[in-house]
Amino acid sequence: MTVSAIMPMTGFYDYSEVARSILIAIAASYAALDLAGRVTAASGRVRLAWLSGGAIAMGIGIWTMHLKGMLAFGLPVPVEYYWPTLLVGLSVAIFASAVALYVTSRPNMSRTDALTGSIVMSAGIAGLHYSLMAAMRMPAITRYSPLLVACSILLAVLFSLIALLMAFGLREETRGTVPRKIGSAIVMGIAISAMHYTGMAAASFFPGPPPDLSHTVSNAPIAGSGVVVATLLVLVAAIFTSSVDRRAHAEIRQVNQDLERRVAERTSQLEAVNQALRKEIAERERAEEALRTSEREQHRIAEQLETERARLIEAQAVAKVGSWETELPSLDITWTEQTHRIFETDPSYFHPTRPGFVELVHPEDRAKVDAAFEASLEKGAASTVKYRIVMADGRVKVLEDHWKVFHDGQGRPARLIGTCQDITERQQAEEDLRGSEDRLRLVIDTIPQQIWSGPADGSLDFCNAQWRSYTGLTLEELQGEGWQRILHPEDRERVLTSWRESVANGTPYEQEERHRRADGQYRWFLARGVPLRDSEGHIIRWYGTNTDIEDRKEADGRLRLVIDTLPALVWSKLPDGSADFLNKRFREYTGLSEEEGLGWGWMKNAFHPEDRAEEEWRAAFAAGEPFEKEARLRREDSSYRWFLLRAVPLRDETGNVIKWYGSTTDIEDRKRAEEALLEAQHKLALVARIQAMAELAATIAHEVNQPLTAIVTNASFSLRQLGGSTPNFDEVRTAITEIVNDGTRASAVISRIRGLLVKGTSRRVDLDINRTIRDVIVLLGNELSRNHVHLRTELAFNLPRVHGDPVQLQQVLINLVMNALDAMRLSTEQARNLLIRSAKNADDIWVLVQDSGPGIEPDLAARIFEPFFTTKVEGTGMGLSISRSIIESHGGHLSLVSSSQGALFEFTLPVTMNE
Ligand code: ADP
Repeated sequence: MTVSAIMPMTGFYDYSEVARSILIAIAASYAALDLAGRVTAASGRVRLAWLSGGAIAMGIGIWTMHLKGMLAFGLPVPVEYYWPTLLVGLSVAIFASAVALYVTSRPNMSRTDALTGSIVMSAGIAGLHYSLMAAMRMPAITRYSPLLVACSILLAVLFSLIALLMAFGLREETRGTVPRKIGSAIVMGIAISAMHYTGMAAASFFPGPPPDLSHTVSNAPIAGSGVVVATLLVLVAAIFTSSVDRRAHAEIRQVNQDLERRVAERTSQLEAVNQALRKEIAERERAEEALRTSEREQHRIAEQLETERARLIEAQAVAKVGSWETELPSLDITWTEQTHRIFETDPSYFHPTRPGFVELVHPEDRAKVDAAFEASLEKGAASTVKYRIVMADGRVKVLEDHWKVFHDGQGRPARLIGTCQDITERQQAEEDLRGSEDRLRLVIDTIPQQIWSGPADGSLDFCNAQWRSYTGLTLEELQGEGWQRILHPEDRERVLTSWRESVANGTPYEQEERHRRADGQYRWFLARGVPLRDSEGHIIRWYGTNTDIEDRKEADGRLRLVIDTLPALVWSKLPDGSADFLNKRFREYTGLSEEEGLGWGWMKNAFHPEDRAEEEWRAAFAAGEPFEKEARLRREDSSYRWFLLRAVPLRDETGNVIKWYGSTTDIEDRKRAEEALLEAQHKLALVARIQAMAELAATIAHEVNQPLTAIVTNASFSLRQLGGSTPNFDEVRTAITEIVNDGTRASAVISRIRGLLVKGTSRRVDLDINRTIRDVIVLLGNELSRNHVHLRTELAFNLPRVHGDPVQLQQVLINLVMNALDAMRLSTEQARNLLIRSAKNADDIWVLVQDSGPGIEPDLAARIFEPFFTTKVEGTGMGLSISRSIIESHGGHLSLVSSSQGALFEFTLPVTMNE
């Protein structure tokens, strides 16, 4: 184009127009800020109305500002405007305003919302601006600088964003909003203008061909001013409406708030009233309940009172108490029924009067009754009088009256009210008591016994005449602690300690103590005291007696002297056997102190350990019969001697043992002699046995020697013959025959000797086998006890006698017992028990000996009765053989019986015929 080479036209600004355009921009901005608040506060259709109205007003404002800005720019050529394009610009402005209002009136505005809003808005503003530029019709060509165009659009985006943020921040109605809104509107107005004028600066105008001026309007200043005025009017109207509406709205809100506050106040008042009402109702219910309870309570009290009254009347009747009233000064008397009953008058006939009453009083007491009556009236005081009344039949009753004086308003006595009690029985009882007390005192004083009593603290406040006369002291001198002066100085400490103990513990007191007589001499007394307790067990008083035991003491002393000097060990024991006295000799002999010997100490401390058979002794004491036992007592030098202890019971009248008395005799010598004798007997028996054996052996040797020599000779000859080269068998046979004959002869010799042994000394008598058994036990007793054999005998009573040789039968028994002993000695571990039993069996006497030894092997059982069979080193093997011969010679039988334990031998003996 050629035109392009031409210089651009120089434009100029009408600065008053510029100022007006800025003013419009500020006014439009203010309207925008104000309208955003309105749109936010409204809702529904109103909101739509505000939104569209606001958008139109704002759009017109913005459009007008732009138009004004364009009109403020002058060119050297005439400029016309194509009005359809102007209208397009206006609608764009309204649309952009609607978007802006919509964005800022929403409850929240996010960053994206703000950004999108500002872009749409700036696009609108840019659209408006450049469409207005496009509406220009003039003889010039318009060129744009792209940099400035971009700059103007950026500014449009930036200012739109700022405008949105400001409108959003200011939409709420707060104090000081209007100045802030004006400030913001100025900033926004200037900003919008800045964008517009930057956009204008981006355009350059070059001279060009004349434009088509159809549908154009010129920019005549008046027209421009008309647009401005109309716009301002629209804006002002919009702001005014908005503010009126806002105020109305605010007022409505205020009213609403007031209403709500009042409703709340009213509600809370109502609630308070309600609560008070509820409380009141509850209170009333409670009160009603209390009322009901108290009514019930009153009812109950009334009933109780009624019962009490009935009980009182009853009690009065029982206690024989009546009451009366006397009016003053008329002296009118009223009696209750009970009073009538006391006076034995009939209430329907007898009306008591003063003279009538005095008539009934015992003549001797009338003056007293009158005096009491007068005195009480004079002083106006209560009074009591005891008097007698005389009944029609002459009986006398004792009464006691109490009364009180009641005064009228002027202080004058108006009436007497009193009670009247029949105390006849009580009076009688008191008199009886006094009488019996006097009698008791007389008894106490004349009793031949010292009697005393005192309070719980152990002092003395009473003692009878006996004690006073014994001590020669008065009650005043003895009472309290005074009695202590009569104690013997040696007893004093012991007595007081013991008495204090009794008083402290409430235990009965009993002591032997010496009391000083009036003449200064001391005598022994047994003092006893017992406490009297109340129902709760507290001690009320102590009562005691002192019994003179001087004579008994003296006798005791003498007896003790005698017993102590007796040359015997003497003791006394309680029923159970515990010693309560051991004489001096006993103590000296055993070296025991009194404490060591008393109780069961006499056994534990003085008996030989093997003899301390407490159970046996207790059993003997319990049996209650006199008994004696032997035991070894230890002497002071620790040697033991045998004693025979004898005990005899002392019985009371019912036969119960109350004491045991005993003596002890030294039997050591007798014991020794017995033992020596037994030893001797035993030795004798053994010697006899050995001697018998020796004799037997000698006889055997003598008798058997000859055949034995012949046997040996013949046997030697036979051996020689058989050892030679040509034995003579005939001679050998003869020699052996000789040997057989000699052997038979030797055997016959032995049999004969045994028979001799059995029969030779035989001396038959009728004897008691039990006696023989006992003799053997005595003979071997020592042997048995030395070997700790426990012997048991079961001997039948009343056995018939047997005819036999006592010595031979003894020998059989000795043999059996000694064999048993030998066998049991082999087994050291076991208890050694030996049983000897006798019994009657049909026509036989039957004796059995059983031991607890190892017994006899069955294969040996057949051989033990063979002569010379022995299993013992020093045995002869003849015992059982001889025993069997002896028993068989008596017509009996000796055998070994199989037994579960040990060996069991038994023999029988025929009973004597003539029995
Ligand atoms: P000795 O006594 O001299 O041996 P006896 O004829 O009296 O002769 O006894 C023979 C044997 O019988 C004894 O050696 C012994 O083995 C056995 N005997 C006898 N009595 C008993 C017994 N009570 N217990 C066990 N063995 C016995």
